[in-house]
Amino acid sequence: MAEHESLEFGKADFVLLDNVSLEEFMANLKLRFEKGRIYSYIGEVVVSVNPYRAMNIYGRDTIEQYKGRELYERPPHLFAIADAAYKAMKRRNKDTCIVISGESGAGKTEDMSVTSVCLYRVKNMLLKSNCVLEAFGNAKTNRNDNSSRFGKYMDINFDFKGDPIGGHINNYLLEKVGGLVKGAPDAQLRSLHIQRDPTAYTYIKVGGQIKSSINDSADFKAVTDAMKVIGFTTGEIQTVYKILATILHLGNLKFGSDGDVTLIENSKLVSVLGDLLSTKDENVEKALLYRTVATGRDVIDKQHTHQEASYGRDALAKAIYERLFCWIVGRINDIIEVKNYDARVHGKNTVIGVLDIYGFEIFQNNSFEQFCINYCNEKLQQLFIQLVLKQEQEEYQREGIPWKHIDYFNNQIIVDLVEQQHKGIFAVLDEACMNVGKVTDEMFLQALNGKLAKHAHYTSRKLSPTDKNLEFDRDFRIRHYAGDVAYSVVGFIDKNKDTLFQDFKRLLYNSSNPVLKAMWPEGKLSITEVTKRPLTAATLFKNSMISLVENLASKEPYYVRCIKPNDVKSPLLFEHERCKHQVEYLGLLENVRVRRAGFANRQTYPRFLQRYKMISEFTWPNHDLPSDKEAVKRLLQGCGFEHDVAYGKTKVFIRTPRTIFNLEEQRAEMV
Ligand code: ADP
Ligand code: MG
Repeated sequence: MAEHESLEFGKADFVLLDNVSLEEFMANLKLRFEKGRIYSYIGEVVVSVNPYRAMNIYGRDTIEQYKGRELYERPPHLFAIADAAYKAMKRRNKDTCIVISGESGAGKTEDMSVTSVCLYRVKNMLLKSNCVLEAFGNAKTNRNDNSSRFGKYMDINFDFKGDPIGGHINNYLLEKVGGLVKGAPDAQLRSLHIQRDPTAYTYIKVGGQIKSSINDSADFKAVTDAMKVIGFTTGEIQTVYKILATILHLGNLKFGSDGDVTLIENSKLVSVLGDLLSTKDENVEKALLYRTVATGRDVIDKQHTHQEASYGRDALAKAIYERLFCWIVGRINDIIEVKNYDARVHGKNTVIGVLDIYGFEIFQNNSFEQFCINYCNEKLQQLFIQLVLKQEQEEYQREGIPWKHIDYFNNQIIVDLVEQQHKGIFAVLDEACMNVGKVTDEMFLQALNGKLAKHAHYTSRKLSPTDKNLEFDRDFRIRHYAGDVAYSVVGFIDKNKDTLFQDFKRLLYNSSNPVLKAMWPEGKLSITEVTKRPLTAATLFKNSMISLVENLASKEPYYVRCIKPNDVKSPLLFEHERCKHQVEYLGLLENVRVRRAGFANRQTYPRFLQRYKMISEFTWPNHDLPSDKEAVKRLLQGCGFEHDVAYGKTKVFIRTPRTIFNLEEQRAEMV
């Protein structure tokens, strides 16, 4: 508890509130925001409010002030959490992780880079990687014009001395959109056949499809330079821009028909694409207009309809972008990953993971992407519940410590609703996508209604015809832990299938550009060799979320909860309702309650004695009491801390961090 801060700034730790009520919580949060105190604690959880202005609190000197200090010694700051995660890792040789969550625009990515600066100390490379990924992974959304459309998990590896030696990045890209190159120099634009005028490109114009993110020449240069520093070759960087240009050109490709024959209207673009993709023009044209299909033993070329061709073009653009992004992440990992680490020589290599992941989203129209994002947040909430709430309560019970049960909503039921085998929403979606023949989004909705009619957290227009909040026939609604969200099923089927025609994969694999070719290894298979159905987007996403959560659960977690104070990027405005909603769905009040009912610190009796026995004459150098428990009691009585502790079966529980701090001080005087 940071108690040295004047109360004029409100309570630095919400645990210190006089009454734990939503009103008091909000009043304190608002006061602190208005006083420029953007960070607060709930025990060891950081609550961070986006200041929407530059704060002079991130300098090297500030980092130094937090290094090696305990949380409660300094005003709340991310540096304190980063340092706590670091110290825990070093002292106990244990992997830790920092989970940064909150809604779009709440300040997650900013907080992640602040944390990383503090942790990396020296590794410029890791910072540059972030710059590149942010540039490619961001897109304008209606809530935040630089919001990450993907989640990012980064492991930072440390050697036995505690120096960073490398890292690894996992990305969870969702919306397959792309950014580009308006900021490129003229000569480069010419070689990419790109005009500077962005309105010349359908994908940028239409908004919603592919949006531009690397806008001006400064950004363009920064990203190009960062790629060079990380170690991308010139050939690779060129290919990256060629691919981005390809995407823009694809968007302008128009199909027409002449009788039964589908044609490309602006056929000049075909040779531009051939040039950018280092492949023959006729191959490009063929892949755009035909699909090779195997019928029994025969292989035939089947011409696309006008509609199929347009569909294929858009799928290609998205797939190339996604593949490019994954390839960039892979290349960065090649470079930053720890190689040849010999634990016998260097000691144990430990890890701090940092997760920056999209928060809960409720838009006007919610689709497959929002569904995935919100499922992800249910998973993270479940992890939080397990680690912070459930484990805590269970331990007190086990230890026989008197404990008032805290009621909290366990959202496992919603996680199951989405991911359960056979009858979860993802399973129903996958089943719909497995069917041969045309399955529509509406049929998928019918299947959901059939399977989930009785589920307390699921409903739809069909099931609740009089519900005014369900406006559309094609909506279903989930009661999330964070609130109700209606999703439109339109597009679910398409987005879930891997819809890229195999012909495109072969086209790209057969490029004479080796970088491009390497991105599409599966294009190697000929039509008769392709048998396995690719995993669906839902299955891939579900699997990656499950392994993410397993990974986090194996580490000691630290949490940063980000709050967005308003929707207009104002440094002054604290919109009460908006903030209250976030506080509610982040479960912050429950968090305070558990924390207050709980104990900041717990240690087994022998371990406690090992550390503090020198403080008391009864325990130093050895005690003659009947048990370690008795000895610890005696020691703590002697220090006058009786009121602040509870004695469990195997562990002593200490309520406030200040007591620990005090014990540490006394210990330091003795040793
Ligand atoms: P998220 O990743 O949660 O979507 P960002 O981290 O991208 O949100 O933050 C959105 C914007 O808010 C940033 O571009 C920046 O302008 C502002 N911002 C966020 N955190 C801070 C901060 N600590 N100091 C100053 N500005 C911030
Ligand atoms: Mg972000």
